[in-house]
Amino acid sequence: MAPFQFAMNEVYLRDGSRKVKDVLKTKRNEGLYCACPPYGYKKAPRNKNQLVPDEATAPVVQRIFEAAANGDSSRKIAESLNRDGIIPPLKYRVLYRDEFSEEGAARASDFWNYTTVKRILKNEVYLGHTVLGKTKKVSVKSKKKVPVPISEWAVTENTHEALVSKEVFNAARDNLGKGTRDFRQYDHVRKSIFSGIAYCALCGHALCSCGTVYKGERNKYWYLSCINKRKDISRPCTGTRIRYADLVSLVTDDLNSLISLTDEQIDGIVKRVMREEGSQSAASAYKLRRERLKDRLAVIDKIIPKLYADNAEGRLEDDRLSRMVADLQKETQVLKAELTDIGSETLKTNKSDNYKMFFELIKRYSHIEELDRNTLATFVERIEVGPKILPAGKKRATHKPSAFEQPIRIFYKFVGEMSEIREER
Ligand SMILES: [Zn+2]
Repeated sequence: MAPFQFAMNEVYLRDGSRKVKDVLKTKRNEGLYCACPPYGYKKAPRNKNQLVPDEATAPVVQRIFEAAANGDSSRKIAESLNRDGIIPPLKYRVLYRDEFSEEGAARASDFWNYTTVKRILKNEVYLGHTVLGKTKKVSVKSKKKVPVPISEWAVTENTHEALVSKEVFNAARDNLGKGTRDFRQYDHVRKSIFSGIAYCALCGHALCSCGTVYKGERNKYWYLSCINKRKDISRPCTGTRIRYADLVSLVTDDLNSLISLTDEQIDGIVKRVMREEGSQSAASAYKLRRERLKDRLAVIDKIIPKLYADNAEGRLEDDRLSRMVADLQKETQVLKAELTDIGSETLKTNKSDNYKMFFELIKRYSHIEELDRNTLATFVERIEVGPKILPAGKKRATHKPSAFEQPIRIFYKFVGEMSEIREER
């Protein structure tokens, strides 16, 4: 009976979570607050669904909005809050409100940063509106949350006391981001186009933009490097570093070589991928089978609780019940195993579609002169930079092209690494 118990648990779990979700949805639509109160507010003592200003933090929120409305940048606001020793939101929750695990509490910073300030400035909760359902969980059992489109957010106006007026809120919002545009004009501020894309091949840590300006030269001393090297961390990385301009030109060259592929060459690549994955008709057969399997599993999900209900009401004898349940249980296992197998097959069959999509995108370009963030992010998912390999006897890398080798892997959107396919040409 043990395996079946497990299945029942899952049925109840799913059902229960649906009920909880429905309740939350109704509460949200009525504008009742069901999440942790945002910084600046607390739950009303008598009505836990009602937000009221928190006398300790509401003035801080107002100060942030007024400063922003007066044209202060988020960074400047954060600095001034830090100077005055004001506790940032997460730390405040750790200290005064919620119960955190030790690990969670340790993550709370003692300092404000501009993202915390920005998040507050963007939140319409301070206008007195309730905005919920901005993210949702992927499934009952997963902790992962995904963003929900703005159109599906639950916004209810005037559900609680506003901390700022609409005028101040709008003025602050209009000023938001102006600072960002301005600071790009400063030449000494390095803005890497590789953030969130370039990683250390050794430790997987993001590569950070760093370097100095020496004798007015900026590009020459601009590096991306792994900063997971600090001595005070438990397993420091031995580090990797690449000159920013070198990585830009390397990626630009690689993209240009893909752009310059002729239609015949692209056809050849796609055909090779298709041969690898089997015929397209197999793909549709898999898809059909997959749907059948899912349908049957859904039916079984419904049958089992019904059998139990029948048994409880005396319409089904005990030994018949356990036989039937055991059979269904066995069938479920077989179906699920097949579903997993098919899953990996269909994954393969999507590959040629992905290649077609990628090349369709890349054919819109004729040549990339200067690589910008947009183009990079359109095509490149991830870049892994390994450490330099120096010739025998050398301790330092000079900057001659042949002075060293450095392994760099470019993973393109949809298709991943393409080196193996292109090398066959
Ligand atoms: Zn590293």
